[in-house]
Amino acid sequence: MADKKPFEIARETLKQLTARKLVPTPANYLSIYNEIAGIPHVPHFPADILRDIAQSLPVKTPGQQKQKGLLDYSIDRLSWDGVKSALMAYGGFVPVNAPEGAVGGGVASPVADPVANGVAPAALTTDFLAQIGKLIEYAQPALGNDDVRFNEQTDTLVKALRQPGTDVAIAKLMLVNYSHRLSFAAEDQAEVRATLLKLLHLVFENIGELSLEEQWLKGQMDALMEASTPPLTLRRLDDVERRLKDVIFKQKDAKARTLQAQNEMRSMLATFVERLSQMTQSTGNFQQKLEESAKLIEQAKSIAEIAPVLKDVVGTTRALAQESQASREQLQNMRERATETDAQLARLNQELDRVSSQARHDPLTGALNRKGLDEALNREVSNVRRKDVPLSVALLDIDNFKKLNDTMGHATGDIALTHLATVARECMRPQDTLARYGGEEFVILLPDTPLDKGIDAMTRLQRELTKKFFLAGTEKVLITFSAGVAQLAANEEPSDAIKRADQAMYLAKRAGKNRVLGA
Ligand code: GH3
Ligand code: MG
Ligand code: MG
Repeated sequence: MADKKPFEIARETLKQLTARKLVPTPANYLSIYNEIAGIPHVPHFPADILRDIAQSLPVKTPGQQKQKGLLDYSIDRLSWDGVKSALMAYGGFVPVNAPEGAVGGGVASPVADPVANGVAPAALTTDFLAQIGKLIEYAQPALGNDDVRFNEQTDTLVKALRQPGTDVAIAKLMLVNYSHRLSFAAEDQAEVRATLLKLLHLVFENIGELSLEEQWLKGQMDALMEASTPPLTLRRLDDVERRLKDVIFKQKDAKARTLQAQNEMRSMLATFVERLSQMTQSTGNFQQKLEESAKLIEQAKSIAEIAPVLKDVVGTTRALAQESQASREQLQNMRERATETDAQLARLNQELDRVSSQARHDPLTGALNRKGLDEALNREVSNVRRKDVPLSVALLDIDNFKKLNDTMGHATGDIALTHLATVARECMRPQDTLARYGGEEFVILLPDTPLDKGIDAMTRLQRELTKKFFLAGTEKVLITFSAGVAQLAANEEPSDAIKRADQAMYLAKRAGKNRVLGA
């Protein structure tokens, strides 16, 4: 038909209008004309009618005002899609493919606010009650499950809240009853927790007191006390558990070895006493023999009579001498063994001291040592991979520490290290981990922390350190550090992240020290 002339199309159009019995309105004429001419049919856009409708819509809430704006805009642009979206939003439905665009700079998401948009109250209530149900369900584990009746009440409530169409008045009544009981349950749980903690401290205190002479155990108990002081986190409790296991294991081992050494000492002592009594007896016999011989010699009338007596005396003396020689050798032997056992016990104690206090912690600063850091890193990294949260590692190195040692002495240097560790612990979050990486280098693990926040945390620590000096005698000592921070990348080995932090720290030194750089 495209080759028809316009007057032919017009004639054909009139014919068709009659044939199809259509009212000869301009709209119908246009529609048939387009059909015959092969022009795509574009329906007429009733802008005026739509404007009338828009005018009569309510614009009381901000949401309605937005939708009205979107509607006017869509009418002006003759956009059916826009009109559809705006009208659906008025009705509380999320429109599919809401048009991007621009009344007042952004009405792209017309139903961000269901209340403002007038969502039907029934749907809203159902959703709201279901949300409360979810909230209660999620909070339940924190309340324990010892109270069977409370558990049942919770289950019933959650079920009712999740059921669509639950009567609001009934739900409210159930919630009132629940909150009443909840207040007791929550208080109970808080008290149970506080009491358990008190008990735990009491146990630690007592073990520490009972073994005053066991310095290594006392140290462990102090560390346990500190680790179990609120605020408690799962990470700190984990630390308590590991340390306690360490103590128990080492104590068992030490006890067995001490008992063995004690038994040896006891049996040696028994032999010694037996020997001693044998010797006394022999000496007693010898005395008697000598006295008898002296009498015989006095009574002897000739040399011939004395000779056998002398022979007897010499024999007895030799026997005694031999016996004491044997005893002396045996005693000497025993003394050597006793000294050896004693040395063994001392070595054992030293070993315990070393192993227990340095197992995971640096004895000077109380921060984790390299072994402790490795373990903490493994734990953090598996957490990061599981939960897909960022982990930042910071490496800091004290500035000009050698000079401080040289001018103020090594002991002051040690105090400076402890001071830095204390200030760091004070301004870190409980979930952060401090480790002594080397002489005057520390690593801080910052879970849940992206790079920029990690840099902020280190800068904060820097500021704290400048505020908090320490005293060496009467002299105020201020320490500064340079640090590098790296955020662990996906699939990156933690040791590589520390290396990157180390490089950034090195750059911070080169740039003039006392600064923090990101890797
Ligand atoms: P920079 O600002 O470049 O880091 O210089 P620095 O002097 O801090 O660094 P350097 O590595 O030259 O010196 C570190 C010093 O730290 C040397 C070492 O004797 C001292 N040191 C290491 N461990 C300890 C410790 O446990 N106690 C004390 N007092 N000093 C330590
Ligand atoms: Mg250094
Ligand atoms: Mg240094």
